[in-house]
Amino acid sequence: MTPDRGKPEWVDFHCHLDLYDDFEDLVRECDSARVATLAVTTTPKAWPRNKELAGQSTHVRAALGLHPQLVAERSSEITLFERYLPEARYVGEIGLDAGPRYYPSFPEQERLFERILCACSDAGGKILTVHSVRTVSKVLGHLERSLDPARCRVVMHWFTGTASEAKRAAAFGCYFSINLAMLQAPRGRTLLSAVPIERLLTETDGPFTENEGRPSRPQDVSKVVDSIAAALNITSDLCQRQMLNNLRDLVTP
Ligand code: MN
Repeated sequence: MTPDRGKPEWVDFHCHLDLYDDFEDLVRECDSARVATLAVTTTPKAWPRNKELAGQSTHVRAALGLHPQLVAERSSEITLFERYLPEARYVGEIGLDAGPRYYPSFPEQERLFERILCACSDAGGKILTVHSVRTVSKVLGHLERSLDPARCRVVMHWFTGTASEAKRAAAFGCYFSINLAMLQAPRGRTLLSAVPIERLLTETDGPFTENEGRPSRPQDVSKVVDSIAAALNITSDLCQRQMLNNLRDLVTP
């Protein structure tokens, strides 16, 4: 029986494909390995090219982003972000970062995040991948105030909050995309026990994570599946199918 090439086998819900030298090859690799991949972006200027390549792909989708770590230099691109938003079903990478290097831009980050959430909520039908380094509680506060969970869905990317913050996010309807680095830290394993398996997805966050000494590529998510399966004491097969079901539920209106 010929496998159905249109059906994904794996999920990488957060990867910066456009930051690799071989961006185009990587898109083809996602298709041949059948990895449903969300190509996140860090600046609205990257949107047209990402949208174009995703448009030629079976399994890659592009997300319109404005990374909190770039807000200090790129805040004027918010108008470009708003111009492209009607074309984008997926939004990210967006969020807040209160790490020491980015703390000076934090008030501006909050203003832009708020503006993006309101725009997404007004438009409806968006799926967001959200960064929350050292600021989980503030991010959740913004989501709860400014995003209608009946109109948009949120995936918390590389979530490092406490178990009670994870439950708060899950109560809002959030999903969580899990990478290998997270599972090597105690917090990552806490997250797995705090939220239902139906809310989990896999991600690489490539090229910001490594696999075997080189930047992770989307097909490396098979290792994340193995690792989640081991932590939850289920088979990798079952875990792999669960991730695909979760993605289907997430994207089904
Ligand atoms: Mn990222």
